This record gives sequence, C-alpha cells and structure tokens, in this order.
Amino acid sequence: MRLSHTLFPENAIFVSWSTLRKMAGVLYLLRSSSQLWGMVMMDQSLFNKQISMTAIHPDSASQSSTAQATHQKAKALKPGSRRPAKELCSECGFCDTYYIHYVKEACAFLNQQFDVLEEQSHGRQRNLESPDELYFGVHQDMMAARKTEPIAGAQWTGIVSSIAIEMLKQKKVEGVVCVQNTESDRFQPMPVIARTPEEVLAARVNKPTLSPNLSVLEQVEQSGMKRLLVIGVGCQIQALRAVQDKLGLEKLYVLGTPCVDNVTRAGLQKFLETTSRSPETVVHYEFMQDFRVHFKHEDGSEEMVPFFGLKTNQLKDVFAPSCMSCFDYVNNLADLVVGYMGAPFGWQWIVVRNETGAEMLEMVKDQLETQPVMSKGDRKAAVQQSIPAYDKGVTLPMWAAKLMGVVIEKVGPKGLEYARFSIDSHFTRNFLFMRRNYPQKLAAHVPEFAKRIVAQYKLPDDGAGQ
Ligand code: FAD
Ligand code: SF4
Repeated sequence: MRLSHTLFPENAIFVSWSTLRKMAGVLYLLRSSSQLWGMVMMDQSLFNKQISMTAIHPDSASQSSTAQATHQKAKALKPGSRRPAKELCSECGFCDTYYIHYVKEACAFLNQQFDVLEEQSHGRQRNLESPDELYFGVHQDMMAARKTEPIAGAQWTGIVSSIAIEMLKQKKVEGVVCVQNTESDRFQPMPVIARTPEEVLAARVNKPTLSPNLSVLEQVEQSGMKRLLVIGVGCQIQALRAVQDKLGLEKLYVLGTPCVDNVTRAGLQKFLETTSRSPETVVHYEFMQDFRVHFKHEDGSEEMVPFFGLKTNQLKDVFAPSCMSCFDYVNNLADLVVGYMGAPFGWQWIVVRNETGAEMLEMVKDQLETQPVMSKGDRKAAVQQSIPAYDKGVTLPMWAAKLMGVVIEKVGPKGLEYARFSIDSHFTRNFLFMRRNYPQKLAAHVPEFAKRIVAQYKLPDDGAGQ
C-alpha cells in the first residue's frame, strides 16, 4: 500500500506507507525529548547534612507512640527549598509535612520498592510471566466504562469524582484527599481534604501540573480522621503507601489515575502557548487515543492538534525530570485505577487491583455503562522506530500532521494495545533518560517489570551499554 502524497513539498519527499509507519515514531517526540536536560547527579551527602532521615520498612505497621512522636517532631521543608530528590522531585507534597522524617525510604525517586509495596497493598507481587500483569500491574479485573450521566466539567465522564462522592455519602470515609484549583488560576493545584460532595466536585478535572497532594497528610493525622480516601498519581501514591500505617487510620482507600509527562505550572504555560490557538481560554485538555491533543475552551469550542504537529523543538525541556524517570505510569499501588489509555476512544479504563478497589467500584456500578477491554493492532514496529527519533526534534507541517493523524487513527493500536504502545514508548524513553543522566541509579531505580518491557527493544548504544 502506498499513499501518493508528497508530504514535504519543499523537499519533494515521496511518502510511502512504510515511511508513514516510520513517521509514526515521531509521535512521541513531544513527550520524549527532555534527554537534553543538563542534570547534575544526586548529591545525597549534601542532603544528609541538612536533615536526619529515618529509614522505615513499610511492613512495620503500627509504630509505637514514641515513633509517632518522633516523626511529629520532624520539620517540613520550607516552600521553595531544595527537596531530597533534588531535580527528580515531583513536588508530591510529602516533604511539606513532618512525614519527611521517612523520606529516604518513602520517596519514589529515592527508593524504588514496588515489590515490597505491591505485597503490602495487594497481598502479592505482580506475576511477571502474565503479559497483562507485566504491563498493567497486579489486578483482578479490567474494563472500559463511562458514566451514563457524565459529570459536566469532569476530565472524562467523572468516574473518579463519582466514586469519591458516593464514598462520602455512604460514610465509607470521612474525608477525601483531592486537588482543587486556586481562585485565580484554574490550573494551579490546591490540595484539600474534601469532606462534602460539593468539595469533591470542586476538585473534578485534571490540574495538569505537578501537584503537592500529600501536603495535607499532617492534617489527616491531626484531625483524628479514621477513614480516608486518597486520589492521586503514582509518585504520590508510592510515598503514601510507605507511610500509610503512620497516619492513624483504620481504613485507607486509594483511587489512582495513570499519569505521564507532567509539567510545572510554568511548563504548562509554555505548552499551551506553543500549542493552542488561545492559551488563556483553555479549560481542559487531554492527549487522546486518536493521536490528537483535544483542547476545550471557555466558550465550549473544541480545538484538536495532531501529536505530529506539536512544536517539538520548542518543547524539548517542558516535561518534569521526575516524569522522565518514572515507571509508575499505571499507578501500580492504587486499589483502583481510573484512566482512559486502555479503553476505546470516549471510554474510561478501569483496573481493579484488589478487594478494596472492587468495593469502591461497586459503589458506582449502577451509574456506569461497561464493556470488556479490547486490544487491536501491533505497536512494536512503531515503538522501535520512535526510539532513534527521540533525539531529533521533528515537527511536521500542520497539513501533513493532520494527514498522519487520520491515517494512524485508522490503522494504529487500539484499546490495551494503545496502552502498551504508550507504556513501551515512555519506558524506553525514560530508561534512556536514566541511563544518560543517572547511570549510577539505573539498576535500582528501574523496576524489574520495566526492565523486561524495555528489553523488547533495541536501544541506541550511546557508548553506555544497555
Ligand atoms: P474527574 O472526576 O474529573 O476527577 C479528576 C480527579 O483528578 C480529581 O479528583 C482530582 O483530585 C484529581 N487530580 C487532578 N489533577 C491532579 C494532579 N495534578 N495530581 C493528582 N490528582 C489530580 N490517564 C491515562 O489513561 N493516560 C494518561 O497518560 C494520563 N495522564 C494523566 C496525567 C495527569 C497529570 C493526571 C492528573 C491524570 C492523567 N490521566 C491519564 C488520568 C485521566 O486524565 C483522568 O484523570 C481519569 O481518567 C479520571 O477522569 P474522571 O473524569 O473520572 O476524573
Ligand atoms: Fe519529597 Fe515528594 Fe519530592 Fe520525593 S518527590 S523529594 S517525597 S516532595
């Protein structure tokens, strides 16, 4: 099959179908180009001088009151001060609390411990021989779902907000850690412990920036709250799981979303300004499974920009280094995960990891339409071709980008295969980022499941070996 189009008239390049497939590799250029970050190595000794950190084992469940008193005496770091994980810090909020006492063990970027925390959270580690568990983590069920009556203004159909609201209404929990926005800036995150459905609803829609959700943890313990739901992304949940037994709770529910390629508030501004026709009126955006960024504007209008048309060269450094080194895309430690990447276009993707997750989903089952997960296509060639393209900031002319988007949407991976495509592309990119910038951390930081996923692909030699 050949497409008789000249995509680059100025260079008179004739694009065959196989070339188009290669160009599909460019897809991840925008989300993959931060390798150029000139990052300094972690200097743990400097941090050690600043604060005394106590290593804990998460299995050491209830700490004695003496130990609790110890962490309560620790001092949160001042806003703006350098964090223990330095450049790799995702600003998860943990160090804004006295739980910083446990940071050396708990921080996702200082101590990778998926095995231990999977065991603690789900009662077992993932089965690395199961193709689905290798990719999507410990789970007992997966499905596509959407609300029959979507919540207006939610990121997708509002399944996350609906679960949280039901849990408050049915008194399963006394509070919900979620993130609203500040009054002056719809994208500036403001973590809260919501105690009413209205407060949960006010947190709907993504604040697509690094968010210090865990900064409210001290308030949980101090309030005497016993039953809590936390909504958060992977790095936040990793730190939470490591200290969950120190919060004085009887029951913790964890509702996670997948997360990838997050940005600081300044980075978000740069992205909006280089990508949207009207950055100041954007109220919502998402990188969709149809290979386009969908922006929603204040007046209700929609704008779609094909991935291939993004101004990659201007956006090289926009993603946070924490996200360039993250392998927790699918929020492996949450009880229940609600995203979209493994579902057909327009549907949300649900991963039930354990009984607590099943209990949470049950609460909104009568509000949902569901269907089994599906998988279509073959991602591997496109992922492989995208790897050498990482270092080249290629931007197609918009008409060519649109054409590419239409073709890829028709023949590209769908459902779980799209999710695998996205995971493979990000894990290979992030593995290279770690290898190039933090070679001394590579072996311990990259979890076994990610190493196996990355091993399916040939990476550039870089003179660094694999
Ligand atoms: P809503 O009912 O609108 O609720 C959204 C919830 O997200 C709120 O409760 C709020 O507290 C929480 N939230 C908002 N911003 C943040 C934040 N910055 N950090 C932590 N929590 C936050 N899904 C995928 O399948 N693939 C992805 O690549 C992907 N990337 C994401 C990146 C980010 C930064 C975030 C926050 C989410 C991402 N998701 C991704 C999840 C997806 O976009 C939806 O959030 C999810 O499907 C829930 O939709 P909903 O309509 O049910 O949520
Ligand atoms: Fe602290 Fe969280 Fe940053 Fe780690 S990622 S240094 S725990 S604020």
